[in-house]
Amino acid sequence: MTLNILEIAYLIASLTFVIGLKMLSHPESARKGNLIAAVGMLIAVIATITIYQPFDNSKTLNYGLIALGLVVGTIIGTMMAKKVKMTAMPQMVSFFNGMGGACAALIAVIEYQNHNTSASLGFDGEFLVMLLGLIIGSVSFSGSLIAYGKLEGKIKDFVLPMNQVVNMLMLATILGLTVYQMLGNDSTPLFYGLLAISLIYGVLFVMPIGGADMPVVISLLNSFTGVAAAFGGFLYSNKAMLTGGILVGSAGTILTILMCKAMNRSLTNVLLGAFGGNASGGPKGEAGDQTVREISITDTAVLLSYSQQVVIVPGYGLAVAQAQHICHELEKLLEEKGVTVNYAIHPVAGRMPGHMNVLLAEADVPYERLQEMEEINPKLASTDVVVVIGANDVVNPAAKNDSSSPIYGMPILEVDQAKNVIILKRGMSAGYAGIENELFFYPKTRMLFGDAKDSLQKLTSEVKEV
Ligand code: NDP
Repeated sequence: MTLNILEIAYLIASLTFVIGLKMLSHPESARKGNLIAAVGMLIAVIATITIYQPFDNSKTLNYGLIALGLVVGTIIGTMMAKKVKMTAMPQMVSFFNGMGGACAALIAVIEYQNHNTSASLGFDGEFLVMLLGLIIGSVSFSGSLIAYGKLEGKIKDFVLPMNQVVNMLMLATILGLTVYQMLGNDSTPLFYGLLAISLIYGVLFVMPIGGADMPVVISLLNSFTGVAAAFGGFLYSNKAMLTGGILVGSAGTILTILMCKAMNRSLTNVLLGAFGGNASGGPKGEAGDQTVREISITDTAVLLSYSQQVVIVPGYGLAVAQAQHICHELEKLLEEKGVTVNYAIHPVAGRMPGHMNVLLAEADVPYERLQEMEEINPKLASTDVVVVIGANDVVNPAAKNDSSSPIYGMPILEVDQAKNVIILKRGMSAGYAGIENELFFYPKTRMLFGDAKDSLQKLTSEVKEV
């Protein structure tokens, strides 16, 4: 009977995860979806603590320790989530992802103490699941912490001499040790050796990947954590954990494939090639022209007010400046003047998948105004003005024109096709990939220097006067 209640609780939790995930796919329902899945997780946690009995009846649950873990985790999680700035969200997601990986690896470590390999004859599936959870969880933990450091700007891309060869050797060692232990040669030093190598592999695997390949790595690490958690669910016959893990694992894998497609890269290219930040591409400009042309607030306001089609390209700088609300304000003003305004969304704009969608949804920008890259690119040639707000890499023509550029081959928003391009940024600094942008030197480009929020506020006042 008790087992049935537990199973029902896990079924409800699993259902809320599926419904929550579905709702997360649209900005309007995302908040509610997140809440629904969180309630499901709470049900699963409460049911596990109150109903679940360890298979080994000689053991009892340590309620004091569980309560301590819950309280400490809740306090730290709540404080971090409340304090985090919108621009630091990607780092926090990476950090939490790493913690998930660590949990999965710790489950394997703890269960290893209870596991008697020698007692089992033949193929020991449980031990294999434990080893896989240990390896994938550890790689995800150390890899996510490196990704966290990179997004925070504290860790620079670093390529060891013969990095890929070292990585291949480590991967082969991990595989070899797993097979060797599975063949009945299990020993505690080997188990912990596998843990150590997996942790180092996570570091070396993410270290050289940088620049425009980071989104792919982040979603890949995300899927690793999901798979590792699913192994934990398998070990404990915990169906909620299993479903949750599989959902995260498959969603992460789908996102990885989508990100690879968006960047025009294969996963092998991302993992083995260096599409990183040690950029060599420099500003070239059309016919070697290196002149930067500025535009005033007043001229920008007039140009925008008398246009028919305007496209706004939001980027990471919009999030830094927290200019999404004033941007929406400007868009509404222009619409009132009969100008059609749309937003062009690049799949890797910002610092996390869907960053711009979340940012603009927060400012209540109607979702229909957001157009994906493939949809908007063909329309740019007939656009009067493209306003690039704090975006850089995602509009860099070097991705199309310069085969020596580290972002060569990445699909971009082809804003250079538009009749006029206005770029709002503070100075001439490079974007995340660390390369300069020849678009800034094109004759049709005008720079509006300043903090995006400040410039947009002035622009909005000026547009009201036109
Ligand atoms: P970029 O990082 O290329 O450029 C952002 C620009 O914003 C900078 O050039 C900066 O110039 C400007 N900026 C910063 N602060 C402000 C401000 N307050 N006001 C105005 N401008 C500002 O951004 P993109 O969105 O174009 O590209 C995203 C990059 O991040 C890509 O390379 C992508 O691969 C990478 N990435 C994306 C992830 C994702 O999942 N989306 C994850 C990890 C990395 P200045 O300092 O001169 O103002």
